[in-house]
Amino acid sequence: MAHPKLFLKPGREKSLRQRHPWIFSGAVARVETGAVDGGTVDCCAADGTFLARCCWNGASQIVARVWSWNDEPVDRAFFVRRLAESAARRAVFSRIGEGGRRLTNAFRLVNGEADLLPGLVVDAYADFLSVQVLTLAMARRLPEIVEILAEQSHPAGIWQRSDVEIRRKEGLEPETGLLYGEAPPERLEIVENGMRLLVDLHGGQKTGFFLDQRESRRLVGRFLAEAAASRPPDAPPLELLNAFSYSAGFGVSAAQAVPSCRVLNLDASSGALALAKANAELNGVQSDCWEYLEGNAFELLRKFRDQGRKFDAVVLDPPKFAQSKSQAEGACRGYKDLNLLAFKLLRPGGLLFTFSCSGGVSPELFQKVIAGAAVDAGRDTQLLAHLGPGQDHPVALAFPEGEYLKGLAIRCL
Ligand code: SAH
Repeated sequence: MAHPKLFLKPGREKSLRQRHPWIFSGAVARVETGAVDGGTVDCCAADGTFLARCCWNGASQIVARVWSWNDEPVDRAFFVRRLAESAARRAVFSRIGEGGRRLTNAFRLVNGEADLLPGLVVDAYADFLSVQVLTLAMARRLPEIVEILAEQSHPAGIWQRSDVEIRRKEGLEPETGLLYGEAPPERLEIVENGMRLLVDLHGGQKTGFFLDQRESRRLVGRFLAEAAASRPPDAPPLELLNAFSYSAGFGVSAAQAVPSCRVLNLDASSGALALAKANAELNGVQSDCWEYLEGNAFELLRKFRDQGRKFDAVVLDPPKFAQSKSQAEGACRGYKDLNLLAFKLLRPGGLLFTFSCSGGVSPELFQKVIAGAAVDAGRDTQLLAHLGPGQDHPVALAFPEGEYLKGLAIRCL
């Protein structure tokens, strides 16, 4: 089937030739009549050479996104293939641990552009799928996508969490609700690296949970186990400040690795802390080892500093401070403030696990800001590891915009 053609301005085909999957309105010379928002167009260089088959939305700043670099039909079979390939790349998550239980049953099944499915995010949570649709073209195809997901994954239910403001740029309203099967329970139990965690697919943050921090949660446990092992037997218990704790995933991981570890979970949301408490109970954490503090991390860390309170490890996992590069400067001030305080709270040998999920702040810039905070705090530091999301959140090398989450594991001397 012939699709309307989109012609780029002369010389504007470079980014597409480098397999960047987005076309901005400013690069377009003209579009043939017949192009409908949400439909398919063939993107051509100024001289008419075919470059890519794309979805089109003339109402968005990103007018086209690549479906395929080939002249192939974008039909049901195309999505069947792409979704099956995405799932096959996650086969590692079907691994069974001791006792016949899966070690991890919550992971990202489809990660948008990196899985060659722009505008679609699908997360698997135990027997349920949570779907987020970010483009008009994907929204139009949602019933078909849901049908295919149901056939391929046999979930108990598919729930939509398209309640994100960015959809408005595509002319879409936020939407949530049941798409298939039964609704997930208000608190759904998942397993992550052997931890039992409750997630709220209905009202929880993101699509219900921060799946992108799975690997870092595991690593924090490992680092703390090593720290505990190298302490004298009569040393007091390790103390962890889990700032921006949400449902306390980092805390549970720490407690599993070092059962005697004291954990202070701090979050601005009472709902998050209620989940944190439930997760602690579910994993048999000794209640006298854990504290919960509701409030603003910026203020509470400052208070701890003034009180001279100290910790052996601090996790700083704040929400996104910058949506884009233009907001990077303000975001960096926020990171500097927080990390400066964290460095002051750490005992000698203490560990800082610090994260940024601001797409507008590059990993290099983030590291520079943290280095500056350490200097201002008067601390000598060692970078132990770069942290980031697991393999279920891949980034296309041609699409660095997909890389938003970065973290550093740092030891204070
Ligand atoms: N570490 C968590 C994810 C953290 S998401 C995990 O592993 O799952 C960021 C969290 O920061 C959210 O739970 C949000 O409620 C909280 N938050 C946002 N602003 C805050 C602030 N100023 N002070 C404390 N918590 C805040």
